[in-house]
Amino acid sequence: MTRSISLLGATGSIGDSTLDLIRGDRDSWNVVALSANCSAEKLAKLAIEFDAEIAVVGDEACLPELRQHLSGTSIEAAGGQQALCDAAARPVDITVAAIVGCAGLAPTMRAIEQGNTVALANKEALVSAGEVMTAKVAEHGTTLLPVDSEHNAIFQCLTGNDLDDVRWITLTASGGPLRTKSLAELEATTPAEAVAHPNWSMGAKISVDSATMMNKGLEFIEAFHLFPVGLDRLRIIVHPQSVIHSMVEYRDGSTLAQLGPSDMRVPIASTLAWPARMDTNCRPLDLASIGELSFFSPDEERFPATRLAREAAHAGGGTPAVLNAANEVAVAAFLAGQVKFTQISAISARTLDNYAPPAPNSLDDVLAVDAEARARASEMLEIA
Ligand code: NAD
Ligand code: MG
Repeated sequence: MTRSISLLGATGSIGDSTLDLIRGDRDSWNVVALSANCSAEKLAKLAIEFDAEIAVVGDEACLPELRQHLSGTSIEAAGGQQALCDAAARPVDITVAAIVGCAGLAPTMRAIEQGNTVALANKEALVSAGEVMTAKVAEHGTTLLPVDSEHNAIFQCLTGNDLDDVRWITLTASGGPLRTKSLAELEATTPAEAVAHPNWSMGAKISVDSATMMNKGLEFIEAFHLFPVGLDRLRIIVHPQSVIHSMVEYRDGSTLAQLGPSDMRVPIASTLAWPARMDTNCRPLDLASIGELSFFSPDEERFPATRLAREAAHAGGGTPAVLNAANEVAVAAFLAGQVKFTQISAISARTLDNYAPPAPNSLDDVLAVDAEARARASEMLEIA
């Protein structure tokens, strides 16, 4: 049986892993839409290889280049935010939402409105929209499957169990490449050092988020929305080997964990095949060669991001969207060499102090909070 699929963010790291799985099982998939922000040449190549119906660039300025690379094919080319949303609304069995940042929110919401299955990698969209997204999922009867390795692990550990029986959900964090650095060393960290993740190969933004621990902060909020056990039952533990991807402890004292190699093809495959399983050619887990697993409490003095995220989750309403937007602005400024590594969390904290947003009730409300928070965070860059 062939299933139809759209992939938003096809040229990124999650996009690469997803297409690698589809390539290995080509006859099972009918690719509808592929999108990128601008990488027109790469997007066109993929659209041709996977015989997509439509290729879309979010940045309309890149459309002429995309058209040129697709000339002579029957693949449609489109550009701009509206075209991206329209492509996301084309009916498919499953959409993989893998755009980075709040930029992925509007197209992901359009995919959710189809009422089929959305495999969500784009955590910033859920963090920003929160209840606006979960209400949309409920309204349309959509199946939302988590791609993020931790949430995919939790999802697997919860299967067949009752949320009321959960004592704790524990998100594991690798701690990133700077886990053992002093505050002075953190301050002097360069973008190249921050993106050099020891276990995972990922896009630049999430790699910096892993180094600041904001990735775990965003994941804490993501988990709160995906698995409604309440904030008091969510915990974070640092586990540098990234072998246990997360755990659920039940009231009888049993803890279920999901283990696997640090390869995003494993959680992506679990969403593509769900509720069945599919083959992957990922390197099998070799516990004997890993030898030891270790665990530490997070240090929120050196890495305040998880504290900021917990506070934002408790505040609720539009506050997580402010945190996410400020972090996106600060990470981009850090990657551009404009601010120091330690200023990323400081800018997020100051933006949160400076802006008490209204509680959003719609996608437009979320986007308005996001825009205002970006403007305020950008002002902070001037004085940072
Ligand atoms: P990436 O930077 O490698 O790729 C991002 C994709 O989004 C690219 O296709 C890019 O063209 C597109 N894009 C970027 N900005 C856009 C815009 N403004 N409009 C439209 N498209 C845009 O990122 P990634 O590492 O693949 O991460 C994608 C998402 O998955 C992020 O939300 C990230 O947090 C999440 N995630 C990634 C990993 C991983 O291992 N890479 C793991 C867990 C979760
Ligand atoms: Mg993760």
